[in-house]
Amino acid sequence: MTVTGSGTCSDKIEVIQGDITALDVDAIVNAANTRLLGGGGVDGAIHRAAGPELLEECRGIGGCPTGEARITRGYRLPARWVIHTVGPVWSGGKRREPELLASCYRSVFQIASEKGIKTLAFPAISTGAYRFPPDHAASIAVQETCAALERYPEIEKVLFVCFDSRCLDAYKKALAG
Ligand code: ADP
Repeated sequence: MTVTGSGTCSDKIEVIQGDITALDVDAIVNAANTRLLGGGGVDGAIHRAAGPELLEECRGIGGCPTGEARITRGYRLPARWVIHTVGPVWSGGKRREPELLASCYRSVFQIASEKGIKTLAFPAISTGAYRFPPDHAASIAVQETCAALERYPEIEKVLFVCFDSRCLDAYKKALAG
């Protein structure tokens, strides 16, 4: 299913349910860990679909701090680029988790703008193994995306890709509110 937002920034936002590795966009975002050497969840799916060259390139980068992002090629993915970002592990909300998640989105959009990327797809960063509450994460994602779409008007489309219906509901609420 597809949910298209209404209003100025959300004209460029779509929420879809599916597998991010299948999307033919300029860049997909990976919810990576600080080592950037693959892992479970969406990270594992992206590495499996992109092939071993992705891991090789990631090894050369040498890691990424929480809240920052790094770009690689997409190799066997339909997407030309992968922007890897490291979300915070949720541990109650008092360890700057919301700020760090916002910083992930800002870092990804900055890199996207530098590379001339016009279409990009995000998974629900930090809401899987890292346990960030989905409603809170979706509201940060929408807020930062709206701010970035104002700052970088050349970006044409942002997809939020959900694996499950809880995630879809969270984004629907965030886009409506
Ligand atoms: P994190 O460690 O940042 O929490 P996870 O990969 O565990 O990252 O989960 C982030 C989100 O990505 C979760 O909502 C999970 O359901 C979702 N996810 C897992 N695999 C895929 C995929 N192939 N495409 C899109 N989303 C996915």
